[in-house]
Amino acid sequence: MDPVGAQPLPPPAPFMLGCRECVRLLREVADTVAADTSCLAELHAVARHIVEDHPDQIPAAHTRDCDRCPAYAARNDGDPGQLWAEHRARDLFLPEAVARLL
Ligand SMILES: [Zn+2]
Ligand SMILES: [Zn+2]
Repeated sequence: MDPVGAQPLPPPAPFMLGCRECVRLLREVADTVAADTSCLAELHAVARHIVEDHPDQIPAAHTRDCDRCPAYAARNDGDPGQLWAEHRARDLFLPEAVARLL
C-alpha cells in the first residue's frame, strides 16, 4: 500500500510556495497521487530538493513519536547521504504520520 493517498496532503510550508521548483515537484506528487500510482520517487525528489536548495528550512530532529530520529542521532558517522535531513524535510509537505514512516 502506498502510504500517501490514504490521507490528503497538508498545505506545504509557505517557503515552498514561493519556490518554482518546489511547486513543480509538489505538482508531480499531486499528479501521481491523483493517478493512484506510487509517488515515492516524487516524494524523494521533493525532499532531496529541499535538502539541497533550502537547507536552512529543514526542521529540527523529532524528539518524540519518531523511531527514526533517535536511530539517526545515535550514529557516529553524521548523516551520510543526508538521509536524516531528507526524513526531517518530509515534515514540510506530508502528513506527520506519513512523514515519520519514510
Ligand atoms: Zn524549492
Ligand atoms: Zn524523525
